[in-house]
Amino acid sequence: MSLFESPFFQDAFSQLESAGHRMNMDPNVLERLKYPKRAIQVSVPIRLDDGTVKVFEGYRVQHNLTLGPGKGGIRYHPHVSLSETAALAMLMTFKCALAGLPLGGAKGGVKVDPTDLSRAELQALTRRYATEISMFVGPEKDIPAPDIGTDGQTMAWFMDTYSQLKGYTIPGVVTGKPIAIGGSLGRAESTGKGVAFCINFAYEKLNKSIGASTTVAIHGFGKVGMPAANDLHAQGAKIVAISDVSGAIYNQEGLNIPQCIDWVRNGNLLREMPGADHITNEELLELDVDILIPAAIDGVVTKDNAHKVRAKIIAEGANGPLTHEAVDIISDRGGMIIPDILCNAGGVIVSYFEWVQGLQMFFWDLETVNKKLHDILKLSFDQVWKNADIYKVNLKQAAFITSLDRIQTAMRLRGMFPG
Ligand code: NAD
Repeated sequence: MSLFESPFFQDAFSQLESAGHRMNMDPNVLERLKYPKRAIQVSVPIRLDDGTVKVFEGYRVQHNLTLGPGKGGIRYHPHVSLSETAALAMLMTFKCALAGLPLGGAKGGVKVDPTDLSRAELQALTRRYATEISMFVGPEKDIPAPDIGTDGQTMAWFMDTYSQLKGYTIPGVVTGKPIAIGGSLGRAESTGKGVAFCINFAYEKLNKSIGASTTVAIHGFGKVGMPAANDLHAQGAKIVAISDVSGAIYNQEGLNIPQCIDWVRNGNLLREMPGADHITNEELLELDVDILIPAAIDGVVTKDNAHKVRAKIIAEGANGPLTHEAVDIISDRGGMIIPDILCNAGGVIVSYFEWVQGLQMFFWDLETVNKKLHDILKLSFDQVWKNADIYKVNLKQAAFITSLDRIQTAMRLRGMFPG
């Protein structure tokens, strides 16, 4: 598939163009932002447990490095492609700039279903992939992190492989590491916590507060969905539905979230949870709730089902869960969409904290991490809210405008090499 073919890339591209035109962006800057700076495709051969050799496709894309080293996750999923990785890298450029981080946008991935591999096979895959992209990444160049299908253990193997190749320990090459080897307190929950913060900021703007009458549905109960559910549940909100790839569970009186978290953390699927009422993932998206958090994968709300989505606020926990057309349909009927590059930026913000702590070899307490996360997100949210008013656009476009404005300023100051 060519770079521009995937619907996800097309979608990221059209969001960029539409925000760029709205803010009268310099067309020369816009032209440069349409293309990733660099992309690498690698073959990742591993020996499977049965002795045979299998080759997987891997990618790392650096979209724009004007503001600093690349930053972005590594995804292990059967749908990974160069085009999808490039779109995700582009979103990372905008996400980092929106949060005011000194980082550019990057993303990587391997086309694999990690659930098909044993632990030993996954380790081999990660070590070979890390080796193949080792010349491309580094604490001053490009710093990967976990994404769908990868976790702290993946980052530990990645960091160890990179360190073996260089001959000394280099914790700053990845973030999202376990605490014992240089991870940051609060990183694991940071994306979901950020989603919960953003929902609270939106409620404050509407002069409302989260409480027992607030109903929430969450699509995807993983590294993003789980902590978001946990925080909102702790605030007293009723989480009426959650889902994973196997389906959704529903209780109109509110689910017992700590129990659901234990169930999933013990390796179980929600479909098999005893005593729960079951609905489909599609039905969850259409529930009449105050807040819907799509926190699984991209493209789950499109022009085909957007008119059925009834939630008042949609907080994009995942990257690109709503297509460009879906955003327009829902915004036109008065729904509020907290855009992905703002709503799920908690992860990259605390990743940045982890990188900074690693470089300083000085680690912060959890309270400091969460306070700094809150303050950065609040600043970003307020700026996006202000620009939505100035430019008379929805929050999604306002987030792109805020971010593009910062990137444009930096790109103009740095100029173009060789001129
Ligand atoms: P994860 O693998 O931990 O969890 C994904 C969840 O979605 C799981 O419950 C899984 O069962 C479910 N799921 C997967 N495919 C599905 C499908 N087709 N239909 C319904 N449910 C499905 O992944 P994650 O880290 O929570 O990431 C979720 C999304 O958030 C992705 O879009 C990712 O790019 C984005 N994101 C993650 C982070 C982070 O820090 N982990 C940061 C920013 C953005």
